[in-house]
Amino acid sequence: MVGPARSHTPAATTATAAPTASAPTSADVGAAAADAALQLSLLVEEALRRVAAAALKESGLYVKEEWVRDLLCDSVVADLQEGGCTAGEDDAYGRFQALLYEQLPQAEDDEVRGFAAALHRHLGEALEAAAAAAAGGSGGSDDEEEGPIGGCALCERQMPLTFHHLIPKDVHSRYKKRGLLSTEQLSTGVDICRACHSAIHRTYDNKTLAAQYGSLEALKQSEPLMRFVEWARKQKVRVRPRKL
Ligand SMILES: [Zn+2]
Ligand SMILES: [Zn+2]
Repeated sequence: MVGPARSHTPAATTATAAPTASAPTSADVGAAAADAALQLSLLVEEALRRVAAAALKESGLYVKEEWVRDLLCDSVVADLQEGGCTAGEDDAYGRFQALLYEQLPQAEDDEVRGFAAALHRHLGEALEAAAAAAAGGSGGSDDEEEGPIGGCALCERQMPLTFHHLIPKDVHSRYKKRGLLSTEQLSTGVDICRACHSAIHRTYDNKTLAAQYGSLEALKQSEPLMRFVEWARKQKVRVRPRKL
């Protein structure tokens, strides 16, 4: 497969400098954030497509006709995007069994179960990779070192905790300038695990977080985020030994 391994070029922000006064306006910043969010969503869809294709291939349901395979992958990806992660192999089986039988009437039950198991496993791996990439990336997040183990404010698992600024740091100067919030208010945050933290920054850009998700209660009202959290709650805790 020819993957469009495109690195994003910052050309658009530097070229064609309009005769504006100084620093980028908030409109420019907003547009750049929207671009980044779009790229992220494309990446996730591409990752989901790979997950679906790999699960099909492994299950014995793998079909030669490319269009059938694409149709199946599209359906699986659409379902995952709407319904979030699968909570386990049984959940994946329950959700996709009808779809698979509908499009592959000759499918055997053990193949369908194999698909569900492979899908769940690949999805978990893809999510872990995405979380690791988000944690290690330079994406202007406020990620900090993992701290001591405690209860995550979102998924409630006992995990090494990270501090999430409810108003992300890179919008602080804007808020301060307008006198909207005090330094103390700007420094409030929640202790959450790495997986939940990555999910927050995967789901929303910093501007949206500051404007709409500036409290733990607001975060808990976010449907896409809580779909992840519900899924994370069911995952085994793997505490890596801390590097000294
Ligand atoms: Zn968590
Ligand atoms: Zn954060």
